[in-house]
Amino acid sequence: MVLLAVDNVSKSFGKHQALRDVSLTIEPGEFVSLLGPSGCGKTTLLRMIAGFLQVNRGTITIEGQDITHLPPHKRPLNTVFQNYALFPHLSVLENVAYGPRRAGVSKAEAASRAREALDLVGLSDFSSRYPRQMSGGQQQRVALARAIVNKPKLLLLDEPLSALDLQLRKRMQIELKEIQEKIGVAFVFVTHDQEEAMAMSDRIAVMSGGRIEQVDIATNVYARPATRFVADFIGEASLLPVERQTLRVLPEGSTGDAMAVVRPEHVSVLASPPAVRDGQLTLDGRIETIVGIGGATTIYVRAEGHLILARRLGLAGSDLSEGQPVTVAFDREAVHLIDGAAS
Ligand code: ATP
Repeated sequence: MVLLAVDNVSKSFGKHQALRDVSLTIEPGEFVSLLGPSGCGKTTLLRMIAGFLQVNRGTITIEGQDITHLPPHKRPLNTVFQNYALFPHLSVLENVAYGPRRAGVSKAEAASRAREALDLVGLSDFSSRYPRQMSGGQQQRVALARAIVNKPKLLLLDEPLSALDLQLRKRMQIELKEIQEKIGVAFVFVTHDQEEAMAMSDRIAVMSGGRIEQVDIATNVYARPATRFVADFIGEASLLPVERQTLRVLPEGSTGDAMAVVRPEHVSVLASPPAVRDGQLTLDGRIETIVGIGGATTIYVRAEGHLILARRLGLAGSDLSEGQPVTVAFDREAVHLIDGAAS
């Protein structure tokens, strides 16, 4: 059974079309990220699912029930905001119990539910503290406890970790994913950070210019990008138009109007004279730049007018230097084709 179904939703702000015919389904308990560059429409889509924004066209259903025109508080979901939005004058327990209290639950029962939620996020010992006495990561978990206290079917999270420093952010990614698995609530998680999306999501919806370009598991979004935008946006890639026969031998299944995508870890850089293996595709060129970052080195080769990226683990080694003529080679199987993307 599908939990959430967004069906052909569009949204304009004046002349600006922020979302164009967006469709997306989410299964119960699934963790789905909306990933894309600034301005692509992630927050707009999330706000429409939450009910803070009205759709211009299309429908949104939860478990088959049309919620397109329901006000936010009537939808069986909750939103966690980037700035936590905790009440500073209420204790942690009171912050979490606030929702059930407002919904008419008795004080004792609300406190009991709040304790249960705080336990789930690992904050049982902090219930009498005030938000200002908590770290950013802890405040984020209080916000999460508050969002799950009334047991929603779906949680919407808009860049909830972006205010945290990198180390804490990485730790919270793991914690948040663990909590999500434990409580079994479906998450729709907005981020512009592809590593974050890759680390946490069951599936990723990659967005650009108000459209969803691809919805898939992380490994497919990386290894089998559906569009040129996805190939470019996720990780690094060499993009080669097949129609110009850059690869000399057309890869199998190619229509001629395809774009070949090759990830840098599949490309070898061979100093002349090249030792090319059978079945490898090759291009001759010259090393433009060598960039070392910690455990890996990226070698940028200009070959027959194209920029080809190759990655080696560790240091580049003394066999390669900038300006050197080289041959780049990759296996035919390493080439992913995107039909119609070259024109
Ligand atoms: P970011 O990562 O920067 O938050 P986003 O992908 O979440 O970006 P949205 O906030 O959904 O992007 O905005 C999508 C587009 O719609 C942008 O061009 C934005 O300027 C525009 N937009 C969003 N809200 C409004 C509004 N209330 N009025 C006018 N334009 C808006």
